[in-house]
Amino acid sequence: MKQSKLLILGGSGEAAALARALHGDARYDVTLSLAGRTSEPVKLPGTIRTGGFGGAEGLARTLRDEKFDLVIDATHPFADQMKANAIEAARVAGIPLLAIRRPAWTPVEGDNWIAVDGIEGTAVALGETARRVFLTTGRDELRPFVKASQHFYLLRSVEAPAPDALPVHVELIVARGPFRLEDELALLKQHAIDIVVTKNSGGEATYAKLEAARTLRLPVIMVRRPSLPDAPSVEIVGEALQWLERHHVSASST
Ligand code: NAP
Repeated sequence: MKQSKLLILGGSGEAAALARALHGDARYDVTLSLAGRTSEPVKLPGTIRTGGFGGAEGLARTLRDEKFDLVIDATHPFADQMKANAIEAARVAGIPLLAIRRPAWTPVEGDNWIAVDGIEGTAVALGETARRVFLTTGRDELRPFVKASQHFYLLRSVEAPAPDALPVHVELIVARGPFRLEDELALLKQHAIDIVVTKNSGGEATYAKLEAARTLRLPVIMVRRPSLPDAPSVEIVGEALQWLERHHVSASST
């Protein structure tokens, strides 16, 4: 039986779930690629490579030189550069690509969302009056909040930001989801939060903060998804596994 050599572009819950699901499946020779932004990524089975490829061109070279048959883009919904690179590289290398594109969150009755484009927009939307902000947009893009120093920030991220990147009035929580509604409610109440700022990442792992904001009637500043180039895509890992089955069968029969 011919093995299909698969590259998973990771950095998301879906990438981790896919790597776990394929571990031990003799039909696939799987490599998971991580950008290397977190110093202690979740432990996953199988072959893992870390660090950038050098743009679309570098990725295309890797796909060709290492004879990958298939590529699955399972990067985070806001990793728009890598997503575009993956599409271009797969085209150049002439191999099939599938993107896992988790649906965005949409507001339901009782939600009070203010949608903005880009992180800069969130700091503007917070306004001049001092607020108590629950901030979950990640540790890499704190500059707008450092400038908007009138606010208090309860900042939660997977890894601690560099101390000199932090806003002045800040309390830091280092934690990785999934988070539960009862804990999110307790956190927002304990810190007297009056507004939540988040990216529209979608998915279940971090949705409870939005339910908590709804329950407490708090506004949410929601960063819209970046626009992405078209690619064959599915929404969940199960559908990606079906796509792999189809491509493995067709690769074996050629
Ligand atoms: P990005 O802006 O789309 O990508 C910037 C560069 O990082 C890419 O051009 C690539 O470098 C490298 N890169 C990104 N993902 C990679 C991967 N899986 N394997 C190897 N290199 C990768 O991405 P980002 O928003 O900085 O996100 C970086 C990583 O963190 C991604 O893996 C993403 O899934 C994860 N993540 C991002 C967010 C977010 O909000 N952006 C949230 C959670 C997790 P080269 O051009 O040199 O190849």
